Amino acid sequence: MSRKITAKKGLEIECKGWEQEAALRMLYNNLDPEVAERPEDLVVYGGIGKAARNWESFEAIENTLRKLEKDETMLIQSGKPVAVFKTHDEAPRVLLSNSVLVPKWADWEHFNELDKKGLMMYGQMTAGSWIYIGSQGIVQGTYETFAELANQNYDGSLKGTITLTAGLGGMGGAQPLAVTMNEGVAICVEVDESRIDKRLETKYLDVKAYSLDEAKQMAEEARDAGKALSIGLLGNAAKVLPEILESDLKINIVTDQTSAHDPLNGYVPEGYSLEAAAELREANPVEYVKLSSASMAKHVDAMLEFKDAGAVVFDYGNNIRQVAFDEGVENAFDFPGFVPAYIRPLFCEGMGPFRFAALSGDPKDIEVADKKMRELFPENEKLLRWLDMASEKIAFQGLPSRIAWLGYGERAKMGLALNELVASGEISAPVVIGRDHLDSGSVASPNRETESMKDGSDAVGDWAILNALVNTAAGGSWISVHHGGGVGMGYSLHAGMVVVADGTENAARRLKRVLTSDPGMGVARHADAGYEIAVDTAKERGVNIPMLEE
Ligand code: NAD
Repeated sequence: MSRKITAKKGLEIECKGWEQEAALRMLYNNLDPEVAERPEDLVVYGGIGKAARNWESFEAIENTLRKLEKDETMLIQSGKPVAVFKTHDEAPRVLLSNSVLVPKWADWEHFNELDKKGLMMYGQMTAGSWIYIGSQGIVQGTYETFAELANQNYDGSLKGTITLTAGLGGMGGAQPLAVTMNEGVAICVEVDESRIDKRLETKYLDVKAYSLDEAKQMAEEARDAGKALSIGLLGNAAKVLPEILESDLKINIVTDQTSAHDPLNGYVPEGYSLEAAAELREANPVEYVKLSSASMAKHVDAMLEFKDAGAVVFDYGNNIRQVAFDEGVENAFDFPGFVPAYIRPLFCEGMGPFRFAALSGDPKDIEVADKKMRELFPENEKLLRWLDMASEKIAFQGLPSRIAWLGYGERAKMGLALNELVASGEISAPVVIGRDHLDSGSVASPNRETESMKDGSDAVGDWAILNALVNTAAGGSWISVHHGGGVGMGYSLHAGMVVVADGTENAARRLKRVLTSDPGMGVARHADAGYEIAVDTAKERGVNIPMLEE
């Protein structure tokens, strides 16, 4: 069984309240063909990150949401609805736990076995927690990363530089646009032509190349003319990167967003067509993982060589260094992850990927929200510049949405303002507010968000769990706990949060609490680890941290 799902728009609801309707619409939105990578298999993004365990579970979730009362809570265990309990009308409507394994069993072998038996599903981050909004959801984070890289290395602009990366999937597809927004040239190696075409269609990518020579010529011309250009190069990264090293093409920046976190489903071994890879995956998964891991080792070796040749090289959160290290590349961790290199100072202020979607489906609602955001934060030049670029360059996918990195204090302010706009009718229907799990206080991921923490607390998982607990207590609309997102099984624990602004008083109370506790966890986590920016933020903005020195 398979169904074609599209985002549901308009003012008519089929559930017993907007909160339940919001969960249903966001589940549909996750699987809209404009948004999802392989919706026919319920796969949203990030390797095999899914929205529901199977189509039977999907339908059971739909039916349960339609019947769910405003004082009931549905429980989801790895994509399958397993119970409904009476709670109260300021409690979450849905609680989700996805891909969580007991630590000793927390590896891909156990997961794949359970997945095959139909007992589990990989939730990635926002796939299994119904707040994925397509590449538009990550593009600001990617933009900010490259902007910070430009500040640190190139006087604030990537003009005249060439960035080399791979992977044009759901998240990776944001890379070309993020580089061109920073005025640079990007060569993005992608093994699956349909992914290149999807990025061309959605205007995240400018042109396609079938050979390195073709890509090289276009890249050099654009660089020399100081023009921004993004090129999707059809090929396998493990083969193309060493070829570029052999050529005289000068590369300034190197990273990667293939789905290296999942060696069986996320990375195509060198020498294999997509079809041959699919056959081998089915026939001999052990051999497949062996070959893909060997290719990743070669890929990382090439990245290290680029570093030696003077390029700025960083890991973009897919755990490729770990795979290479396990394959014997002893210096795989010689280049840093993107969080310690560029993002952590933002996390210290509780900043992160705040996002919202207009449930009406009407782009005008986002225009009204954008205008409000400009009014609320007139001094935040970075945000205003982002909003200018976003409204001009980012095509909506599925429900019209906006991503805007906001910090502690700002998120609650914006959330309450959105609720008022819904109450007054200036925004035509409720708005869903959420975020990526890749946020300041919601993840424990020692090769990514919590890499190289100042106090060595990289592997402490308590913070992610506390984040989900406090957001549940504060009354989020749906709250989730996941394992293995971003970097794969055994390497991360993280929590998601969504809260619905439906214009009511009930929503206002919950928005204020959740949008304070959630980024507050980011400030507290980083203050606890000894980061001065976080300590100052806590003191200045009044985050109550009992053991913080006066
Ligand atoms: P995806 O699975 O949708 O896309 C991965 C892409 O890599 C696919 O298009 C695939 O064809 C391509 N690919 C696989 N092997 C290749 C090879 N050898 N050479 C060239 N291309 C190859 O995944 P996604 O959603 O784009 O995420 C990519 C990775 O980034 C994942 O590991 C994900 O966990 C991680 N991630 C990063 C961030 C971030 O902010 N940096 C956020 C979320 C996820």
